[in-house]
Amino acid sequence: MALSPMAEGVRAWDRTALGRAITLVESRDEADKIKAAGLLAELLPYSGKALRLGITGTPGAGKSTFIDALGTKLTGQGKKVAVLAVDPSSERSGGSIMGDKTRMAKLSADDNAFIRPSPTGGYLGGVTRRTGEAMIVLEAAGADVVIVETVGAGQSETMVAELVDFFLVLMIAGGGDELQGIKKGVLELAHMIAINKQDRDEQAAARAVRDFKNALHIITPGDAAWTPPVLAISALEGDGLDKLWDKIQEHTALMAETGLDIKRRQDQSVRWMWRLIEGRLNEALRKNEQLSDMIGKLETAVREGGQTPASGADEILAAFWAKSRS
Ligand code: GDP
Repeated sequence: MALSPMAEGVRAWDRTALGRAITLVESRDEADKIKAAGLLAELLPYSGKALRLGITGTPGAGKSTFIDALGTKLTGQGKKVAVLAVDPSSERSGGSIMGDKTRMAKLSADDNAFIRPSPTGGYLGGVTRRTGEAMIVLEAAGADVVIVETVGAGQSETMVAELVDFFLVLMIAGGGDELQGIKKGVLELAHMIAINKQDRDEQAAARAVRDFKNALHIITPGDAAWTPPVLAISALEGDGLDKLWDKIQEHTALMAETGLDIKRRQDQSVRWMWRLIEGRLNEALRKNEQLSDMIGKLETAVREGGQTPASGADEILAAFWAKSRS
């Protein structure tokens, strides 16, 4: 069957078509959702071949500098690179703490790169859907590497880790306790930790590498197939990036050898489906006009301590089931 013009454009890495296609899959308009589903059905057979790389780090850790440098290195090897940003701050404030695509100056001007600023608005499950579907579009377009970037905040790291093959945590060496500020849960998700800005203070970077290695030692069991490496790099000067990329490829090869790459993606797809179910149920509940008075009253009662959260939840769910059956 012939592809639609939009799918043709995507397949040809036409960046205008790519932008439009992603806008379509991000849209919350009901008519757009139907069109988006059609487009995704066309593109799905071509997706799944990229390396999906997640990157997190606090603001200022050097994520955009790093992605600009790594991305340019990869396009220099003839690869196509796409960057998606997940910015949890934009959900609440409508603004963005990650800024826009001007953050990656070299990559933005590169024909073999496509940078998409963060989707704004919506609950995290919605962001998962939009990011995951944008990833399908980009893979069908022929991206070899899709980088999904997020700031180290809230649940967005877990969400990104669940969408990618390799999850990189970018840190900087600071004074005092190096582990301060990083959640243990994030270390558990990491396939690699890179200590950036080593050019500023090599000794501090080496110390941070040691500290993180020790911390990971405690977290990751000795016989795991992959021990997350800890590397010191300089995104600004390009130091350590070759070694970092080699390690990522080593991981990719190891996962392919053991079949764990396929298993991870299968598990991710099922988890993704459940996240969508949770998100849609949540939305259906919150948008249900017949229940809104009752929900408002229960929220007040729970806030003021007149009712426990559990009994409030029970009552709301009971009313919701009753309504959906009637
Ligand atoms: P992001 O908020 O994580 O995206 O961080 P940016 O990439 O915007 O970097 C924040 C600041 O750190 C910028 O002024 C960068 O130039 C600087 N920076 C990033 N990487 C390095 C590095 O390797 N060495 C040094 N000295 N500065 C860096």
